[in-house]
Amino acid sequence: MDILVVTISIILCFYSSFQYIHSLSTISISYTNNQTIICALINSTPNQQPYINCSSFPPGIQIPTISTIQSPSGIVGGNNFFCSVSTFTSSSISIMGCWRFSNSNTNIAYKRIYRGPVLKELDAGNSHICGIVNRTNRLQCWQWPELNSKTSSITASVSVGEHFVCGLTGSRQVQCLGTNTNVTKRVPSGNYSMVAAGSQRACAIAINGTLVCWGDNVGKTPPGDFKALALGDQRGCALTNPNGTVVCWGGNGMFSIPESLRETSFLALESKGDVFCGVTTLNLTLYCWGNDNLDPNVPIFNGVIPGPCKNECPCGILPASARLCDGGQMICNPCSQNSDEFPPSSIPPSSSPVEENSSWNGKMVAFFVVGCVGSLALIIAIFLFFSRYFKIRCSQIHDSGRLDEAEMPRTESATPVLEKRLSQLVSMGNKGYLEDFSLETLIKATDDFSEENKIGSGSFGYVFHGTLEDGREVAIKRAETPTSSSYAGGTKREQEDTDSAFLSELECLSRLHHKNLVRLIGYCDESDELVLVYEYMNNGTLHDHLHELESSPLMSWPARIKVALDAARGIEYLHDYAVPRIIHRDIKSPNILLDSTWTAKVSDFGLSLMGPADDKSHLSLRAAGTVGYMDPEYYRLQHLTTKSDVYSFGVMLLELLSGHKAIHKNENGSLRNVVDHMVPCIIQDEIHKVLDKRVPKPTPFEIEAVAYLGYVAVDCVTLEGKNRPSMGEIVNSLDKALAACLRTPNFSRSTTESSS
Ligand code: ATP
Repeated sequence: MDILVVTISIILCFYSSFQYIHSLSTISISYTNNQTIICALINSTPNQQPYINCSSFPPGIQIPTISTIQSPSGIVGGNNFFCSVSTFTSSSISIMGCWRFSNSNTNIAYKRIYRGPVLKELDAGNSHICGIVNRTNRLQCWQWPELNSKTSSITASVSVGEHFVCGLTGSRQVQCLGTNTNVTKRVPSGNYSMVAAGSQRACAIAINGTLVCWGDNVGKTPPGDFKALALGDQRGCALTNPNGTVVCWGGNGMFSIPESLRETSFLALESKGDVFCGVTTLNLTLYCWGNDNLDPNVPIFNGVIPGPCKNECPCGILPASARLCDGGQMICNPCSQNSDEFPPSSIPPSSSPVEENSSWNGKMVAFFVVGCVGSLALIIAIFLFFSRYFKIRCSQIHDSGRLDEAEMPRTESATPVLEKRLSQLVSMGNKGYLEDFSLETLIKATDDFSEENKIGSGSFGYVFHGTLEDGREVAIKRAETPTSSSYAGGTKREQEDTDSAFLSELECLSRLHHKNLVRLIGYCDESDELVLVYEYMNNGTLHDHLHELESSPLMSWPARIKVALDAARGIEYLHDYAVPRIIHRDIKSPNILLDSTWTAKVSDFGLSLMGPADDKSHLSLRAAGTVGYMDPEYYRLQHLTTKSDVYSFGVMLLELLSGHKAIHKNENGSLRNVVDHMVPCIIQDEIHKVLDKRVPKPTPFEIEAVAYLGYVAVDCVTLEGKNRPSMGEIVNSLDKALAACLRTPNFSRSTTESSS
C-alpha cells in the first residue's frame, strides 16, 4: 500500500503546479461538545471503493469506519453533523446522508436528506448545507429553506458561511446570498477562479491569483499568487501557486502555518472554525492544525483522496488517480486559471441560440419557429389520437374499479358482443402472435380441468397445469362462466366484465413481449368458455418462496436481488416501452412468478382486477390493488400514475429484505405494516437489524448491496409519488446492487455489524 501511495504521490508532485480546487471536499471538519471531528475519504487499496474514516480530537467519540456508504464522492461537516454524498453515475443520481451527534455524543444517528439529480458541488457552514445540482446547474440548500426561494446565478465554487452562501456565476463573478449584508452587499467586482466563505467574511482568488477579502474583520490579506484557499472563523490559509505550500493569516497577525509544515506542498485545503486541514502532495497524508487539540506534526490519516472521483474530467485527469477511485472513475485536474480552459457551465448562457447566430435573419427565425410549432402541433395531435384510441382499449385491463373511473373509464357503456370485438381484433392483426386453442385441446391438456391439475385460483377463476400435445407445459386460466363446472352464478354485468377483461387481456398482452413478463401463449373462446393459456412457470410465486416454503434457493441475497431486478425490468417495460404505457396496479409477491431457470416474471396484469362474483368488497379493494401494497397517494387522491406501481414494488422489496409479508403480525401479535417496520431502521443505516434472519448474514460485499436495496425501497415508498424513482432508475440501481453483490471479495475491510 505504501509503495502505491508513494508512486502515485511522486507522479502527483509533477502536477502540483496545477490549481486544485474541488468544491466537493474529501475532508470534513465538525464540532460537537468541545470536540473536533475530522473525517476524510480514504482509499488505501487500489481500485477499491473509497471509504470514510473519522477521528475525534481530543479522542473520545468512537466513530466506526464507514464502509457501507456506496461510492462516497464528498463529505462536509458543521456543528454537530457531517454528511457524505454518493454519486451513482449509471443512474445519474446523488444520495446525501448525514450523521448527527447527540448532546452526550453517545449516539450518532444517520439520516438521508437528499436523493436526486447528481450534486456536483457541496459545502457546509455551521448549520446549513448548499450544493449545485448538475442537471439544472442550480444552487440548492438544505436545513435552510429561505435560501432556496432566492434567485441565484451561482453555478460553481459554492461556499457556505454563517447565514450566507457565496459562489461564482457562469461568468465567474462572485455572488453572495443570505442575511449577512456585510458580506452579501460588499461583493467585489471582477472575475475570480475560486471563492471561500468564513463565518462572517469571504475571500476570493482573482484570475491573476491575488486574494481579495470582504465582510467583517477582514484584517490584512497576504500578497502573492494563490490557487486555493480555506477560511475559518477569524483566520485563513491559502495554497501558493505553483508549488502548493501554505500561507496562513489572521488571528490579529498571530496565526501562521506550523513550522513543521512550512515547506510542505499540499493538494487540498479545508477549514472550519479554528481548524485547518490539508492533504500533502508527497504521500496523500492529512495534517491538521489550528487548535490545541491538534498536533500538526502527527498525521491524521494516510491515503486520503485529494479530490472527488469523477467520470468525466473537462481539463484532464490527475495521473494515476484512477487507482484511487472505484469503478473506472478518476480525479480531475482542475482547470487552469486560463479562461479558455475554465470548465464550461453546463447551462448555456441565457441568450437563445437564435440570437447568437448572426447569420439568421428575422424572416428565417420566424419561418423556423412557425415550422417547428406547426410540426409539433401535428405530432401532438397524431399522438393524442392514437393514445386515446389505445387507452380506451387497454384501460379496460386495469379499470374495473370505482376509484379511477373518472380517469380511465372502466368499460365502454355497452360492452360489445364478444364475437364482434374478437373479429375486430383479428382484423387488426394483433392476435397473430396468439394461438386460438380449441376447447377439446385444453380439456385434453388438463385431463378435463381435473382437480389434480389445479394449481391455483385467483380473482378470474381457477388456474390449471396443462401439457399440450406437442409436449409444451402451460398454465391455463379458466374464467368463472356459466359453462365452467364451478360456476356459482353471476349478474349480466359481471359476465360483461369477464368478457371485456378477457378481450382487453388479449388485445394488450398480444403486443407485450419481454423476458420478465409471463407470456400469454393463446386463448380459447369456444362454447361460452373464456380461457387464457400462459407459459408455465415451474417454480411458482415469489410469495410462496418468501412465506410458504421451508427451504428455497431464494435464501441468498444475490438470488433475492436478482429476482427484484428481473421484476423491475418487467415493470419498466410496461411503464416505459409498452405503447401506450401500462400501469399494472397489482404488483405484489404473488404476482411475481419464477420459471425453471429462476428468472422472475411479472404476471396477472389485467385480469387481477376482476373480482370474484360473490365478494364485492374484495372487488372494490382490488380496484386499487391489494391491501398493504396499495399506494397511499393513489388511494387518497384517486390519482393513478406509474408511481403507484413503484410504491407497490417498494413494498415488495421490503418484503424481500425482511421476509415479512406486507402486513404481518409483530412479536406481540398486533398487525404491522412492513413499511412502518423497515423504513426507520433503513434510514438510520441499521438495516442489519431487520433483515430476514433465514438468509445467511450478508458478506461485506453483500451488505453494501443489501443496504443499497434498502435505500431504493425507502425511495419507492415515499409518500409523494413525484419523489419516487422511476422504474428505469430502479433498474439501474438494482443492476448496480447486484453487480456489487457478485464481486469477488479480495480485500478485507471493516463493515457493518451484520457481517462482523
Ligand atoms: P388474483 O388474481 O386474485 O390477484 P392471483 O394473482 O394469485 O390472484 P392468478 O394469477 O389467477 O391469481 O394465479 C393463481 C395462482 O396460479 C398463482 O398464485 C400461481 O400459483 C398459479 N399460476 C398463475 N399463473 C401461472 C403460470 N403462468 N405458471 C404457473 N403457475 C401459475
